[in-house]
Amino acid sequence: MKVLAVLYNGFKAAIEEPRLLGTVENKLGMDKWLASRGHEFVVTSSKDGPKSDFEKHIVDAEVLITTPFHPGYLTRELMEKAKNLKICITAGVGSDHIDLNAAVDHKIQVLEVSGSNVTSVAEHAVMSMLLLVRNFVPAHEMIERGDWQVSDIARNAFDIEGKTIGTIGAGRIGYRIMQRLLPFNPKELLYYDYHEIPPEAESAVNCNRVGTVEELVSQCDIVTVNCPLHEGTRGMINDHLLSTFKPGAWLVNTARGAICDEHAVARALASGQLRGYAGDVWNVQPAPKDHPWRSMKNPLGGGNGMVPHYSGTTLDAQARYAAGTRSILQNYLDGKPQVHQNVIVGTGKYETTSYGIH
Ligand code: NAP
Repeated sequence: MKVLAVLYNGFKAAIEEPRLLGTVENKLGMDKWLASRGHEFVVTSSKDGPKSDFEKHIVDAEVLITTPFHPGYLTRELMEKAKNLKICITAGVGSDHIDLNAAVDHKIQVLEVSGSNVTSVAEHAVMSMLLLVRNFVPAHEMIERGDWQVSDIARNAFDIEGKTIGTIGAGRIGYRIMQRLLPFNPKELLYYDYHEIPPEAESAVNCNRVGTVEELVSQCDIVTVNCPLHEGTRGMINDHLLSTFKPGAWLVNTARGAICDEHAVARALASGQLRGYAGDVWNVQPAPKDHPWRSMKNPLGGGNGMVPHYSGTTLDAQARYAAGTRSILQNYLDGKPQVHQNVIVGTGKYETTSYGIH
């Protein structure tokens, strides 16, 4: 059996740090195990275009392992060529790089390691809120430049305490963010989600549900995006929705870049409608050198907290998603049932409501 994995290159870092399991070099720690079972394991970072290893090997692979950090985009067209493909495993959380409707039609299962990096992302989202609200990045840049002018930083620095904060999506990550924000004493925690969370979970974080996304963003000082990317959320944060935000709000998106219109966000930041934007996810990954989110700024020259896609690939997270990927593969090889919460697409149907199918 051929197992194909599309991972990111770790180069020197991966050789020096073997816990970088999600890299081409360290192969999710699965190469010896798969070889001992007599399987062929092809691991590559070459993923784009007809000459890529991905397109070359997908035609006879039975298992595809991909990661959201360096997504191999499995389109319907590629799926049609992948005659042996039975199962796609996402090493991490978020399978929007796979055409899920096509997977349903082709009876290809799609699984992810649910929960494996949700704490890692929640921590990053809270950190991003803090660094935006407290105007941290320009303050640090000032110090590196050798300058010292407190008023230039303090004029745009605030506290999280007393702010209204809302999450679009109150699943594993969105809920964990609210849990972590509670001790900051926000004025109010709000969420917008298709489903109401159980009353005891609501009261544990003292949050309230709102009926529409517009209602959420118009009330919030800080908005955080924590829903999957699917047909109903692609481009959801566009010029129109941004115009309904509270002027000068902060926006944190660690979910998926394409949920936001990249140019609309850059425009809103430049005009001051957004005071800051931070996150680690981009509509194309790796992001091109001239992507507007690399250099966009608010009118005071700050408000940009963008980093490469790494919030869910801390070393702690890599240990969890590598173990989870192996366990899904082991179940597949042994013909055992999968843990239900990991199944996004079962054989011929969606097994989760998270991707907008209810
Ligand atoms: P989850 O537990 O499945 O929660 C997602 C929630 O979003 C569900 O409650 C879902 O609703 C809700 N939702 C779906 N569409 C929505 C919409 N249009 N408006 C409001 N809510 C909507 O997933 P999770 O573990 O929290 O992860 C969320 C996303 O974070 C992933 O899909 C992935 O894209 C991203 N992520 C990023 C990283 C990173 O490294 N940056 C790492 C992990 C995950 P239902 O009630 O219908 O299910």
